[in-house]
Parts: sequence; structure tokens; C-alpha cells
Amino acid sequence: MHPIDLRSDTVTLPTEAMRRAMATAELGDDVFGEDPTVVRLETLAAEMTGKEAAMLVPSGTMANLICLLTHCGRGEEVILGDQAHIFYYEQGGSAAVGGIHPRTVPNHPDGTLDLTAVRDSIRADDPHFPRTRLIAVENTHNRCSGTPLEAAYLQAVADLAAEHGLRVHMDGARIFNAAAALDVPVADLAGPVDSLSFCLSKGLSAPVGSLVCGRETFIRKARRNRKVLGGGMRQAGVIAAAGIVALQEMTGRLVDDHRYARRLAEGLSAMRRARIDPERIRTNIVYVNLDPEGRPAAEIVARLTDAGVRVGATGPYQFRAVTHYGIRQEDIDRALKAFALILD
Ligand SMILES: *Cc1c(COP(=O)(O)O)cnc(C)c1O
Repeated sequence: MHPIDLRSDTVTLPTEAMRRAMATAELGDDVFGEDPTVVRLETLAAEMTGKEAAMLVPSGTMANLICLLTHCGRGEEVILGDQAHIFYYEQGGSAAVGGIHPRTVPNHPDGTLDLTAVRDSIRADDPHFPRTRLIAVENTHNRCSGTPLEAAYLQAVADLAAEHGLRVHMDGARIFNAAAALDVPVADLAGPVDSLSFCLSKGLSAPVGSLVCGRETFIRKARRNRKVLGGGMRQAGVIAAAGIVALQEMTGRLVDDHRYARRLAEGLSAMRRARIDPERIRTNIVYVNLDPEGRPAAEIVARLTDAGVRVGATGPYQFRAVTHYGIRQEDIDRALKAFALILD
């Protein structure tokens, strides 16, 4: 039987429609701005997010780095959550490459930042301090149970930023999951922020690519930063063609992933060695805490792999399971049987 791979939604493979679109895509040199398929994807992404412009980049990590480099100069500061992907999983790229200073405030379990803590972190104009430039939020919040951030909260962040002359960036790697979970158009979530990045290569199942969206002037500057990082691609329409299919055909089915994740969480919550509150699972990411008296995550993950279910250890006593296009109802049932053998 095929292994059930719940490590990440990045393991999704392109659909048949994507492969056909890639094979027949009209191409040109995108560094010259001449790849018509890339232009179509960027136009579509701008339309869907309600932004003036968009730009295709190779990865979500590069998308975030480009956005931070475009908003902040060397020695300037970004305020972000201590659980943020940008802070946790991107090699401190904005500091390493851009000299941008990170100022963290604690994330609440629902992925939000305490706005009083954010306000208190904004620097006064004093030569001792770096200059605060940017607030970065994440939606859905990966390390906070994949929770979606609502438009009203994002607007409150934007209002606070505007009061202090700051910009707001949203790491929206899974913004379409957020929109599906909240049942709102993506543009409602993108509206309050100055820039947003999102991934085609996760739940949307495209093989490669992320987009940066924002104002025309922002994207023009961002194109220079993409080039200096080596992210200018030539006949990138091959990638963009799959991205267009992802945006047109793959957003509507994300609710299925969310339903399966909830079902997984409900099943796991009944198991003796697993600790999880299924009510917190609103999108496709399920973090499971293990009994610290029992076997550590590394051992549980190895046993699950032997039983045909792959998950990722995210802490000494925690693992993560993520639902996606490659996971069907029967996979969830089979996974729960394997979980029960090892965790009950
Ligand atoms: C996956 C992810 C990224 C980075 O995307 P890559 O394409 O893997 O570089 C950024 N932010 C969040 C929240 C993510 O989950």
C-alpha cells in the first residue's frame, strides 16, 4: 500500500491539467518582461488579491526576503511574532542578507500578536535605537495550529502601523487556506496589508513558485531585489502555467483538506498518548503533543513510518500532520488506524 504522506502540503504533485498547461505554455524571457504566461499569472494574482501588481518568485522564503528587503534598509527593524516562519525557518535571511534587525513579540496561540506589545515595541526616534519600519504577520499561522487571521484583526494591525508610519507585510504562504476557512475572498485579507507573499507549491499543488503582491511602485523595487538574489528566471512560463491552473482550479477544494484535518484531530484527541484540541484545527495543519512520560517524537515518527504513515517531528514531544490534495478520506481512516496502534 502507498505510504500516506502527512509531513507537509509541499509534497503535493502537479495535477494532469497543470502538466498539460506546462507542456503547451507560451514562453519568453521573463527577465526582459517578455514571458506572456508569467504576465498572465501575475495579473491574475494581482486581481485575486486586489493589489496593483504581483511578481512570480521561486519560493516563499525568497518572497518574504524580497518583501523585507524592499520595505527595510540595513539597521532598520521589523516587528514580528516569535513563532513566525520568517523568524524561525528562513535562516534569519533578512538579517544575514539585508542587515534587517528582527524584534519579536510573543504570538498568541491563535497566531495573532498582542497589539499593545506591538505598540510598545515601536522605537522612538532616538540614536540608540534601530528605526522601526515594518510589522510582519503570518496567515494562516503555520506554527500556531494553522490558524487563519481575520480581516478585522489585520485592519487593526494596519491602523496601528499607519499611526506610526510603518508598513505591514503578510506572509500568506497559505492565504488561500485562510480565505477558505473564513469563507471570505482573499482580497478581504490582503486589503489591509502593504505587501503579501503566497505559495503556489503548498495546498494549491503547483510544483514551484510563490507570488509577491503589492503596489506598483513596491513591485518595481521588489523586481530589483529579486534579480540581486538570483531569482530572475528566464522562460518561467513553464512554472507560471501550473500556477495559473493552481489559482483557477485548486482553491475551491481546500475546504476538503480542512475537513480531513479536523477529522484527524478528532480521532487523535481520543488517543491516550496524544494531546490535541480538535476545536483549534481550522485549516490543514495538525500539531499533536505527546505524553512527555512516553516515547519521544522521533521514535513515534519512526514507528508511524514503518506503519505506512509519514508525519514530521516538530519538537522533542510534538509532531505535525498536514492534509493536502494527495490525501483522501480513506487515507485519513487508514492513518487513524496506524495512529491508534502506536498512540493508544
Ligand atoms: C512554507 C512557508 C514559507 C516558505 O515557503 P518555501 O516555498 O518553502 O520557501 C513561508 N512562510 C510560511 C508560513 C510557510 O509555511
